This record gives sequence, structure tokens and C-alpha cells, in this order.
Amino acid sequence: HAKQLGRNTYQFYTPEMNVQAHARLSLEGNLRGALERDEFVLHYQPQIDLATGKIVGAEALLRWQQPYSGLVQPEEFIDVLEESGLIVPVGDWVLRAACAQGKAWESEGLPPLRVAVNLSTRQFKGENLAERLSRILDDTGIDPGLLELELTESLLMEDAPVSSSTLHELRVLLGLNLSIDDFGTGYSSLSYLKHFPLDALKVDRSFVRDIATDPNDAAIVTSIINLAHNLRLKVIAEGVETEEQLAYLRERGCDLVQGFYFSEPVPAEELSELVRRDEPLPNFSLRG
Ligand code: C2E
Ligand code: MG
Ligand code: MG
Ligand code: MG
Repeated sequence: HAKQLGRNTYQFYTPEMNVQAHARLSLEGNLRGALERDEFVLHYQPQIDLATGKIVGAEALLRWQQPYSGLVQPEEFIDVLEESGLIVPVGDWVLRAACAQGKAWESEGLPPLRVAVNLSTRQFKGENLAERLSRILDDTGIDPGLLELELTESLLMEDAPVSSSTLHELRVLLGLNLSIDDFGTGYSSLSYLKHFPLDALKVDRSFVRDIATDPNDAAIVTSIINLAHNLRLKVIAEGVETEEQLAYLRERGCDLVQGFYFSEPVPAEELSELVRRDEPLPNFSLRG
């Protein structure tokens, strides 16, 4: 990309770029159509409380149910949604759908489940986010304490004073939960942690992956857990795939886990089934 080559660098136009630009434009058009035709769906990945072994929440993850080619994963289209600005209306659709689902689970008589939604920077910066959210909360009737917004470090760093006041509105006025996604991978200063009203840090999957074999990753994860706890924040580890990773995280006092070891993201009815069955999770036994 020309941008990555830096300023003052000329980038010549090539036929290949032409093909790419066309592909991108047509994907953008298809995504716009997908929103109009209501082809987006959410899958939910359970979050497990390590103190009880129970599912206490779920992260809503966007998929595109294409009529012909099946279910498309976000890596195929999230960048185009971001760059085109379509992430703002699609993101609001996600918020509304996730809140409606949270309310539906409550109506089914399930124990309270927190629903986590990823918020993109453009969506965060969009006009009257707090008003838009407040309206979604009213329309769906979800308890605001059951909605968690996952923010990224770069979102918070872009304009710290503005971010800070928006976050206060969301947390103090609306009563939402706020967490930092992919913690440790962004370019951020730790000082923002003391200014922003947060509830949880999500340890990035890249640190969790080799936790049982790489002492550096293990040290980073242990430090993030201690940092969070000293700031009175909860810690959730994402990308937990093995028993060894789980054992390490429990030993270090990690609060919540999410990952393929427990379940992939699943359709809403399947999540509700998982909660209803209330089965002990694989190889899970309570501490102590
Ligand atoms: P994320 O928010 O960090 O979400 C976690 C991703 O890790 C999900 O990928 C999930 O399926 C995957 N994952 C969970 N457990 C494991 C595991 O044990 N192993 C491995 N290898 N992967 C695991 P997914 O659903 O493909 O989403 C990718 C990214 O797309 C998300 O990363 C998020 O940044 C973005 N995204 C997804 N849905 C939305 C949305 O509604 N709005 C916005 N703004 N971004 C979204
Ligand atoms: Mg996330
Ligand atoms: Mg994440
Ligand atoms: Mg991640």
C-alpha cells in the first residue's frame, strides 16, 4: 500500500491494482445489499467464569449469510466495512440485534447472560453514540448492565479527552460495561488505564497461544492479570484452545475465558442450549 511506503513515495498504477479496486468496489456494493436484505447474522461465543465454571456471557461476532456461497467470516469483509464507513450502520445493526438477543435469552428464562459487542472506531466517533445506544437499550428492553462494549486501544488513543468523556457517558449515564479488546497489541500508553472508566481487559489471543511453552508470553499474561487486578479490573483471556492454557490461566487468577476449548462461536439457539444443559465444561473442575 502506498500509505505504508510513507509520504513522498510515488506508487504507480498497475493493472493488478485495477482488478483489486474493482473487487473491492463490488464487495462494498454487495455488503450494502447484504445490510438491506438482512443477510448479516450474529454468532455467539460463550465466556466462562473460572470461579464457577458457568457460562456468564457471550461475545457477538458478525457473519454474513450469503444466499449462494454460505457463511462468510468477518476477515473477508470487516476491512471493507471499516474503510467504506458501512461499519457504522452495520455496527448499529449488530448492537440492536445483540441487545434483542440478550433480552430474548432473558425471556426464555436463562440465567443472566452478558452480551459483548465489538465497537469500531468509526462507530465510536459517529454522531451521538450515547443517544443511539440509549435508544437501542429502550427499544430492546435489555438491562444495560448486561451489555458490554469491546473497545480497542487505538480507538481510545485517537482522541483521549473525547474518548474519555464519551466513555463516561456510556458507563456512568447508560450503565454499560466497557472492556479493552486485544489488550497488549495496540500502540498505547498504560496511563490511559487510570483515566478511562473500564471494567475488563481482554488478553489477546496471540499471548495466550504459547502461554504453556513460551516463558515470555507466560510472563506477559501474568503481568496483564496482575495489572488488571491492581486496577480493580476483570481479566478475560481469549483464544483458549487447550487444557494446558486453561490450567495456567486459572492458576494465575484469570477471571473469565473464551475460546475453542469450550466452544466456537455458535448460533443464538445453540448458545441457549449450552447454557440450558449446564454441563460441566470439558475437563473443568472447580478450584480448591
Ligand atoms: P475479536 O473481537 O478479537 O474476536 C475474537 C475472534 O477470535 C473471533 O473471530 C473468534 O471466532 C476467534 N476465536 C475465538 N476463540 C478462538 C480460539 O480459541 N482460537 C482461535 N484461533 N480463534 C478464536 P471472528 O469471529 O472471525 O472475528 C474476527 C474479528 O472481526 C474480531 O476479533 C473483531 O475484531 C472483528 N469483528 C467481528 N464481529 C464484529 C462486529 O460486529 N463489529 C466489529 N466492529 N468488529 C467485529
Ligand atoms: Mg472482540
Ligand atoms: Mg479480541
Ligand atoms: Mg484478538
